[in-house]
Amino acid sequence: MTFKKGYTPWNKGLTNHLSEESRKKMSDNSKGLPAWNKGKTGVYSEETLEAMGRANKGRSPAMKGKKHTEKSKKKMRESHIGQIAWNKGLTGCYSEETRLQMSKSAKGKPSHMKGKHHTDEAKRKNSEAHKGNIPWNKGKTNHLSNETLKQMSDSHKGQKCSDKNPMWQGGKSFEVYGKEFNNKLKEKIRDRDQHKCQICFKSECEDKTKLSVHHIDYNKKNNNINNLISLCKKCHCKANGKRDKWIALFELMVLYKSIRVTIRRGDTWLHNG
Ligand SMILES: [Zn+2]
Repeated sequence: MTFKKGYTPWNKGLTNHLSEESRKKMSDNSKGLPAWNKGKTGVYSEETLEAMGRANKGRSPAMKGKKHTEKSKKKMRESHIGQIAWNKGLTGCYSEETRLQMSKSAKGKPSHMKGKHHTDEAKRKNSEAHKGNIPWNKGKTNHLSNETLKQMSDSHKGQKCSDKNPMWQGGKSFEVYGKEFNNKLKEKIRDRDQHKCQICFKSECEDKTKLSVHHIDYNKKNNNINNLISLCKKCHCKANGKRDKWIALFELMVLYKSIRVTIRRGDTWLHNG
């Protein structure tokens, strides 16, 4: 697409030369049609691209500092309905180099949603748009490398530990639990502890969630019942700090429990004997 020097484009200066009616016709005609440049990567020669680049140098982007009106936003939305996202299925469409550049340019910039919240309306729209979609991570247990898991874990270190933090999952971390640490065992521990948090003695019903089963020595593979204790989420969170203090306290508690059980057994033995 090259023009001779001195050539005047037929529509030069003719902004808004089309009537409202003919513009509507054009828009109706092109509805559902693919974009003129669809699939045409590389339609411009090196030379043309360079010329375009030169012509745009110093110009600010057409929309800089402006905002789309509600009306044009609505139009844009309508024109995209039913279209497939340009990057759908293009996993790995960026080269290593491009990704590095993207990552560099994004570093230090706050996320565009930082400090903002989606409105209820936006949330509803979002949820509707995703209805029927399969979550990206469905069926991908253990799809993260150990290195990635460690990075994720490190990045959360020092974060506020509280029930209100949506990241808080009752002390669960990425460390792997032993196989025997299953629901059956956890329920057995909760039964033993009469379904009460062993620090604040709040009951499971009061808290409306199942109690967490805590590993007293913090070794997630040591699933001996004497190493396990029921805690509510809040106390489980507390128990992650000052570990030595908690280990000593819990060990005493469990010891006391086992003594009580022994005494009760002794009682039974006495009465029966
Ligand atoms: Zn508690």
